[in-house]
Amino acid sequence: MPQSGEDAAQRRPAVEERDLTEQQLGLRQAEERLLRDYIHRLVKQSPEYPNYQYSCKLCSVHIENIQGAHKHIKEKRHKKNITEKQEENELWALPPPSATQLKAVDAAVREVAAQQGISEEDFKVRETVVTRMEEVIKRHLAGGSLQLSSL
Ligand SMILES: [Zn+2]
Repeated sequence: MPQSGEDAAQRRPAVEERDLTEQQLGLRQAEERLLRDYIHRLVKQSPEYPNYQYSCKLCSVHIENIQGAHKHIKEKRHKKNITEKQEENELWALPPPSATQLKAVDAAVREVAAQQGISEEDFKVRETVVTRMEEVIKRHLAGGSLQLSSL
């Protein structure tokens, strides 16, 4: 799949792998892990929080450093947010129903309607009640300035 320009630029390491010191490599691996927790290194430091290097997109908080980030992902609020996010992602990833599945749901609904749905007779009775209620309401509203809205 072709990548958008922005994606490609973000994934391209700033320096060649062989030039990284072990410490830098460790930091990069730690940052990659934190990305799974929606914690990003700030590209541009916020003028309000000049000492903060990371931000959690899920909780909308700034985090000072990598230690702070590791602490943050263990917090209750973050754990709750990440669970919700994962559930949301799973729902979005659900495939649309197949024709066979739709047919099965349709058949099931029809069956329930046939067993427990209201009869033609019931429907007429209910319709009469609604008509009577409408008359009562109209009578009480007659002469007033009220208008029935579609809401
Ligand atoms: Zn968070």
